[in-house]
Amino acid sequence: MKHANISLFVPHMGCPHQCSFCNQKTISGSVKELTPEEVTETLQVACGAGNNPCSTEIAFFGGSFTAIDRAYMLSLLEVAKPFVDKGDFMGIRISTRPDAINEEVLSLLKDFGVTAIELGAQSTDEEVLRLNNRGHSREDIINASQLIKKYGFSLGLQMMTGLLGDTDEKSLKTCEDIISLRPDTVRIYPTITLEGTRLGELYLKGEYSPQSLESAVSLCAKLLKRFYEEEITVIRLGLHSGGNVEEGYLAGPYHQAFGELCEGQIYLDIAKSILEEHPDGDYVIYVNPSEISKMTGQKKKNKNTLLSLGYNVTIKSKSKLNKYEIEVKPLEASDER
Ligand code: SF4
Repeated sequence: MKHANISLFVPHMGCPHQCSFCNQKTISGSVKELTPEEVTETLQVACGAGNNPCSTEIAFFGGSFTAIDRAYMLSLLEVAKPFVDKGDFMGIRISTRPDAINEEVLSLLKDFGVTAIELGAQSTDEEVLRLNNRGHSREDIINASQLIKKYGFSLGLQMMTGLLGDTDEKSLKTCEDIISLRPDTVRIYPTITLEGTRLGELYLKGEYSPQSLESAVSLCAKLLKRFYEEEITVIRLGLHSGGNVEEGYLAGPYHQAFGELCEGQIYLDIAKSILEEHPDGDYVIYVNPSEISKMTGQKKKNKNTLLSLGYNVTIKSKSKLNKYEIEVKPLEASDER
Protein backbone atom coordinates (compact mmCIF):
# COMPACT_ATOMS: atom_id res chain seq x y z
CA MET A 1 0.00 0.00 0.00
CA LYS A 2 1.34 3.43 -0.93
CA HIS A 3 2.18 5.53 2.10
CA ALA A 4 1.29 9.23 2.13
CA ASN A 5 1.83 12.17 4.45
CA ILE A 6 -0.23 15.30 4.93
CA SER A 7 2.74 17.56 5.61
CA LEU A 8 2.42 20.54 7.91
CA PHE A 9 5.53 22.71 8.14
CA VAL A 10 6.66 24.23 11.41
CA PRO A 11 9.35 26.47 9.93
CA HIS A 12 12.59 26.96 11.79
CA MET A 13 11.05 27.09 15.21
CA GLY A 14 12.46 25.70 18.40
CA CYS A 15 15.99 25.41 17.10
CA PRO A 16 18.57 26.33 19.70
CA HIS A 17 21.23 26.14 16.97
CA GLN A 18 21.58 27.27 13.41
CA CYS A 19 22.89 24.30 11.47
CA SER A 20 25.37 25.24 8.75
CA PHE A 21 23.19 23.99 5.88
CA CYS A 22 19.78 25.02 7.12
CA ASN A 23 17.54 27.77 6.03
CA GLN A 24 14.34 26.02 7.00
CA LYS A 25 12.28 28.83 5.48
CA THR A 26 13.78 28.05 2.10
CA ILE A 27 13.41 24.29 2.43
CA SER A 28 9.77 24.28 3.49
CA GLY A 29 8.75 27.30 1.41
CA SER A 30 6.98 28.47 4.53
CA VAL A 31 7.82 31.50 6.63
CA LYS A 32 4.99 32.18 9.02
CA GLU A 33 3.99 30.35 12.17
CA LEU A 34 1.61 27.44 11.62
CA THR A 35 -1.58 27.95 13.64
CA PRO A 36 -3.89 25.26 15.10
CA GLU A 37 -6.68 26.68 12.92
CA GLU A 38 -4.58 26.07 9.80
CA VAL A 39 -3.88 22.51 10.95
CA THR A 40 -7.62 21.83 11.35
CA GLU A 41 -8.39 23.39 7.99
CA THR A 42 -5.67 21.43 6.17
CA LEU A 43 -6.76 18.15 7.72
CA GLN A 44 -10.43 18.76 6.92
CA VAL A 45 -9.52 19.43 3.29
CA ALA A 46 -7.34 16.29 3.23
CA CYS A 47 -10.22 14.20 4.62
CA GLY A 48 -12.48 15.46 1.84
CA ALA A 49 -9.83 14.65 -0.77
CA GLY A 50 -10.31 10.92 -0.24
CA ASN A 51 -6.98 9.99 1.34
CA ASN A 52 -6.73 6.42 2.44
CA PRO A 53 -6.90 6.61 6.27
CA CYS A 54 -5.02 3.33 6.58
CA SER A 55 -1.93 4.64 4.82
CA THR A 56 -1.91 8.40 5.43
CA GLU A 57 -0.16 10.11 8.33
CA ILE A 58 -0.32 13.67 9.60
CA ALA A 59 3.30 14.90 9.49
CA PHE A 60 4.69 17.89 11.36
CA PHE A 61 7.94 18.58 9.54
CA GLY A 62 10.35 21.42 9.14
CA GLY A 63 11.50 22.46 12.59
CA SER A 64 12.42 20.70 15.78
CA PHE A 65 8.97 19.78 16.92
CA THR A 66 9.79 18.75 20.48
CA ALA A 67 11.98 21.80 21.04
CA ILE A 68 9.31 24.38 20.24
CA ASP A 69 7.37 26.12 22.99
CA ARG A 70 5.57 23.32 24.83
CA ALA A 71 2.15 25.03 24.93
CA TYR A 72 2.39 25.74 21.20
CA MET A 73 3.45 22.14 20.43
CA LEU A 74 0.49 20.80 22.39
CA SER A 75 -1.91 23.23 20.70
CA LEU A 76 -0.95 21.71 17.32
CA LEU A 77 -1.24 18.14 18.56
CA GLU A 78 -4.55 18.83 20.30
CA VAL A 79 -6.23 19.70 17.01
CA ALA A 80 -4.56 16.86 15.09
CA LYS A 81 -5.31 14.06 17.56
CA PRO A 82 -9.13 13.96 17.05
CA PHE A 83 -8.58 13.19 13.35
CA VAL A 84 -6.49 10.16 14.33
CA ASP A 85 -9.00 9.12 17.01
CA LYS A 86 -11.80 9.21 14.41
CA GLY A 87 -9.74 6.99 12.11
CA ASP A 88 -9.27 9.65 9.42
CA PHE A 89 -5.48 9.17 9.51
CA MET A 90 -3.29 6.28 10.67
CA GLY A 91 -1.16 8.43 13.01
CA ILE A 92 1.00 11.49 13.52
CA ARG A 93 4.65 11.72 12.42
CA ILE A 94 6.98 14.41 13.73
CA SER A 95 10.60 15.34 13.06
CA THR A 96 12.96 16.65 15.68
CA ARG A 97 16.54 16.88 16.97
CA PRO A 98 18.23 14.04 18.86
CA ASP A 99 18.89 16.27 21.88
CA ALA A 100 15.22 17.26 22.12
CA ILE A 101 14.08 13.76 23.10
CA ASN A 102 13.56 12.57 26.67
CA GLU A 103 11.17 10.28 28.55
CA GLU A 104 8.86 13.12 29.56
CA VAL A 105 8.32 14.37 26.02
CA LEU A 106 7.92 10.84 24.64
CA SER A 107 5.12 10.15 27.15
CA LEU A 108 3.38 13.33 26.05
CA LEU A 109 3.72 12.45 22.36
CA LYS A 110 2.23 9.00 23.07
CA ASP A 111 -0.77 10.59 24.80
CA PHE A 112 -1.38 12.85 21.81
CA GLY A 113 -1.43 10.13 19.16
CA VAL A 114 2.08 10.49 17.74
CA THR A 115 3.16 7.21 16.16
CA ALA A 116 6.41 7.97 14.32
CA ILE A 117 9.41 10.13 15.23
CA GLU A 118 12.11 11.11 12.77
CA LEU A 119 15.43 12.31 14.06
CA GLY A 120 17.75 14.52 12.08
CA ALA A 121 20.92 12.58 12.82
CA GLN A 122 22.79 13.83 9.72
CA SER A 123 26.12 12.26 10.73
CA THR A 124 27.51 10.14 13.54
CA ASP A 125 30.95 11.73 13.17
CA GLU A 126 31.63 14.14 16.06
CA GLU A 127 33.81 16.41 13.93
CA VAL A 128 31.18 16.72 11.20
CA LEU A 129 28.49 17.42 13.81
CA ARG A 130 30.65 20.14 15.38
CA LEU A 131 31.75 21.79 12.13
CA ASN A 132 28.16 22.03 10.97
CA ASN A 133 26.96 23.50 14.26
CA ARG A 134 24.51 20.70 14.94
CA GLY A 135 24.75 21.23 18.69
CA HIS A 136 24.32 17.55 19.56
CA SER A 137 26.65 14.59 19.82
CA ARG A 138 26.80 11.10 18.37
CA GLU A 139 25.75 9.81 21.79
CA ASP A 140 22.59 11.97 21.66
CA ILE A 141 21.62 10.19 18.41
CA ILE A 142 22.14 6.76 19.95
CA ASN A 143 20.34 7.57 23.21
CA ALA A 144 17.38 9.24 21.51
CA SER A 145 16.99 6.39 18.99
CA GLN A 146 17.00 3.76 21.72
CA LEU A 147 14.50 5.70 23.81
CA ILE A 148 12.14 6.20 20.86
CA LYS A 149 12.15 2.47 20.18
CA LYS A 150 11.69 1.66 23.87
CA TYR A 151 8.52 3.76 23.86
CA GLY A 152 7.19 1.86 20.85
CA PHE A 153 7.31 4.64 18.24
CA SER A 154 8.31 4.01 14.66
CA LEU A 155 11.86 5.40 14.39
CA GLY A 156 13.04 7.37 11.37
CA LEU A 157 16.62 8.54 10.96
CA GLN A 158 17.80 11.16 8.50
CA MET A 159 21.38 11.38 7.30
CA MET A 160 23.21 13.82 5.04
CA THR A 161 26.23 13.53 2.78
CA GLY A 162 28.72 16.16 1.72
CA LEU A 163 28.57 18.28 4.87
CA LEU A 164 31.46 20.51 5.87
CA GLY A 165 34.34 18.21 6.90
CA ASP A 166 32.50 15.14 5.62
CA THR A 167 34.01 12.35 3.51
CA ASP A 168 32.59 9.28 1.76
CA GLU A 169 34.16 7.11 4.48
CA LYS A 170 32.44 9.10 7.23
CA SER A 171 29.09 8.83 5.43
CA LEU A 172 29.53 5.07 5.01
CA LYS A 173 30.33 4.83 8.73
CA THR A 174 27.21 6.89 9.55
CA CYS A 175 25.22 4.45 7.39
CA GLU A 176 26.58 1.47 9.37
CA ASP A 177 25.89 3.23 12.69
CA ILE A 178 22.32 3.91 11.57
CA ILE A 179 21.88 0.28 10.52
CA SER A 180 22.97 -0.82 13.99
CA LEU A 181 20.21 1.37 15.50
CA ARG A 182 17.61 -0.53 13.41
CA PRO A 183 15.35 2.37 12.36
CA ASP A 184 12.07 1.65 10.56
CA THR A 185 12.76 4.30 7.94
CA VAL A 186 15.68 6.36 6.65
CA ARG A 187 15.98 9.55 4.60
CA ILE A 188 19.20 10.44 2.81
CA TYR A 189 19.87 14.03 1.84
CA PRO A 190 22.98 15.11 -0.06
CA THR A 191 23.83 18.61 1.19
CA ILE A 192 22.49 21.39 -0.99
CA THR A 193 24.07 24.80 -0.44
CA LEU A 194 21.36 27.37 0.03
CA GLU A 195 21.38 31.14 0.22
CA GLY A 196 21.21 32.53 3.73
CA THR A 197 23.15 29.68 5.32
CA ARG A 198 26.61 29.38 6.83
CA LEU A 199 27.57 26.89 4.12
CA GLY A 200 26.40 29.40 1.54
CA GLU A 201 28.76 32.02 3.00
CA LEU A 202 31.66 29.57 3.10
CA TYR A 203 30.95 28.43 -0.45
CA LEU A 204 30.97 32.00 -1.75
CA LYS A 205 34.30 32.60 0.04
CA GLY A 206 35.70 29.41 -1.52
CA GLU A 207 35.99 27.68 1.86
CA TYR A 208 33.47 24.90 1.25
CA SER A 209 33.23 22.62 -1.79
CA PRO A 210 29.85 20.95 -2.29
CA GLN A 211 29.69 17.41 -3.66
CA SER A 212 29.33 17.15 -7.41
CA LEU A 213 26.17 15.45 -8.65
CA GLU A 214 28.25 12.54 -9.88
CA SER A 215 30.02 11.92 -6.57
CA ALA A 216 26.80 12.31 -4.56
CA VAL A 217 25.04 9.77 -6.80
CA SER A 218 27.95 7.35 -6.52
CA LEU A 219 28.00 7.57 -2.71
CA CYS A 220 24.23 7.59 -2.18
CA ALA A 221 23.87 4.52 -4.43
CA LYS A 222 26.17 2.65 -2.02
CA LEU A 223 24.17 3.86 0.99
CA LEU A 224 20.86 2.92 -0.63
CA LYS A 225 22.13 -0.57 -1.41
CA ARG A 226 23.40 -1.11 2.15
CA PHE A 227 20.06 -0.10 3.67
CA TYR A 228 18.27 -2.38 1.18
CA GLU A 229 20.51 -5.30 2.15
CA GLU A 230 19.62 -4.68 5.78
CA GLU A 231 15.90 -4.44 4.95
CA ILE A 232 15.67 -0.84 6.13
CA THR A 233 13.29 1.25 4.03
CA VAL A 234 14.69 4.44 2.51
CA ILE A 235 11.64 6.69 2.20
CA ARG A 236 13.42 9.67 0.65
CA LEU A 237 16.59 10.24 -1.30
CA GLY A 238 17.38 13.88 -2.09
CA LEU A 239 15.38 17.03 -1.39
CA HIS A 240 11.88 17.35 -2.83
CA SER A 241 11.49 19.63 -5.79
CA GLY A 242 9.37 22.72 -5.16
CA GLY A 243 9.25 24.21 -1.68
CA ASN A 244 11.41 27.05 -3.02
CA VAL A 245 14.66 25.02 -2.96
CA GLU A 246 15.28 26.02 -6.55
CA GLU A 247 14.93 29.70 -5.57
CA GLY A 248 17.43 29.51 -2.72
CA TYR A 249 19.82 27.19 -4.56
CA LEU A 250 23.48 28.19 -4.68
CA ALA A 251 25.33 24.95 -5.35
CA GLY A 252 25.37 21.20 -4.75
CA PRO A 253 23.97 17.95 -6.14
CA TYR A 254 20.31 18.90 -6.52
CA HIS A 255 18.40 16.90 -9.14
CA GLN A 256 14.65 16.38 -9.36
CA ALA A 257 15.12 12.66 -10.05
CA PHE A 258 18.03 12.11 -7.67
CA GLY A 259 16.63 8.80 -6.38
CA GLU A 260 16.32 7.40 -9.90
CA LEU A 261 19.91 8.38 -10.67
CA CYS A 262 21.06 6.43 -7.60
CA GLU A 263 18.98 3.38 -8.53
CA GLY A 264 20.52 3.47 -12.00
CA GLN A 265 24.00 3.74 -10.48
CA ILE A 266 23.40 0.64 -8.35
CA TYR A 267 22.56 -1.35 -11.48
CA LEU A 268 25.56 0.05 -13.33
CA ASP A 269 27.89 -0.90 -10.47
CA ILE A 270 26.50 -4.45 -10.34
CA ALA A 271 26.69 -4.91 -14.11
CA LYS A 272 30.26 -3.58 -14.23
CA SER A 273 31.42 -5.89 -11.46
CA ILE A 274 30.02 -8.93 -13.33
CA LEU A 275 31.14 -7.89 -16.83
CA GLU A 276 34.68 -7.14 -15.62
CA GLU A 277 35.10 -10.92 -15.40
CA HIS A 278 34.18 -11.27 -19.10
CA PRO A 279 35.93 -10.31 -22.34
CA ASP A 280 34.61 -7.40 -24.43
CA GLY A 281 31.65 -8.33 -26.65
CA ASP A 282 27.87 -8.55 -26.96
CA TYR A 283 25.87 -9.50 -23.89
CA VAL A 284 22.32 -9.80 -22.65
CA ILE A 285 21.57 -8.49 -19.18
CA TYR A 286 18.43 -9.81 -17.49
CA VAL A 287 16.67 -7.92 -14.70
CA ASN A 288 13.25 -7.98 -13.07
CA PRO A 289 10.65 -6.44 -15.45
CA SER A 290 10.08 -3.49 -13.13
CA GLU A 291 13.79 -2.64 -13.11
CA ILE A 292 14.50 -2.36 -16.85
CA SER A 293 14.54 1.45 -16.92
CA LYS A 294 16.91 1.55 -13.91
CA MET A 295 19.29 -0.91 -15.59
CA THR A 296 19.13 1.15 -18.78
CA GLY A 297 19.79 4.37 -16.85
CA GLN A 298 18.52 7.88 -17.52
CA LYS A 299 19.02 8.75 -21.19
CA LYS A 300 20.55 5.26 -21.63
CA LYS A 301 23.51 6.30 -19.48
CA ASN A 302 24.24 2.76 -18.25
CA LYS A 303 24.04 1.17 -21.68
CA ASN A 304 26.35 3.86 -23.07
CA THR A 305 28.82 3.59 -20.20
CA LEU A 306 29.05 -0.18 -20.64
CA LEU A 307 29.49 0.29 -24.39
CA SER A 308 32.40 2.67 -23.76
CA LEU A 309 33.98 -0.13 -21.70
CA GLY A 310 33.61 -2.59 -24.58
CA TYR A 311 30.32 -4.27 -23.59
CA ASN A 312 27.45 -3.96 -26.04
CA VAL A 313 24.46 -4.96 -23.93
CA THR A 314 20.82 -5.72 -24.61
CA ILE A 315 18.59 -5.49 -21.55
CA LYS A 316 15.81 -8.02 -21.13
CA SER A 317 13.36 -8.90 -18.39
CA LYS A 318 13.16 -12.06 -16.32
CA SER A 319 10.46 -12.16 -13.67
CA LYS A 320 12.17 -14.61 -11.34
CA LEU A 321 14.93 -12.08 -10.62
CA ASN A 322 14.65 -9.86 -7.54
CA LYS A 323 15.41 -6.17 -7.20
CA TYR A 324 19.16 -5.53 -7.71
CA GLU A 325 19.63 -9.06 -9.03
CA ILE A 326 20.97 -9.34 -12.56
CA GLU A 327 21.97 -12.19 -14.83
CA VAL A 328 24.52 -11.71 -17.63
CA LYS A 329 24.90 -14.01 -20.63
CA PRO A 330 27.01 -13.68 -23.78
CA LEU A 331 24.60 -12.95 -26.66
CA GLU A 332 25.42 -16.22 -28.43
CA ALA A 333 24.58 -18.21 -25.29
CA SER A 334 21.33 -16.35 -24.60
CA ASP A 335 17.79 -16.97 -25.85
CA GLU A 336 17.94 -13.69 -27.75
CA ARG A 337 20.03 -14.73 -30.75
S1 SF4 B 1 17.85 21.54 13.89
FE1 SF4 B 1 16.84 21.22 11.93
S2 SF4 B 1 15.45 22.94 11.64
FE2 SF4 B 1 16.90 23.49 13.27
S3 SF4 B 1 18.52 24.65 12.28
FE3 SF4 B 1 19.15 22.51 12.36
S4 SF4 B 1 18.45 21.55 10.46
FE4 SF4 B 1 17.39 23.53 10.71
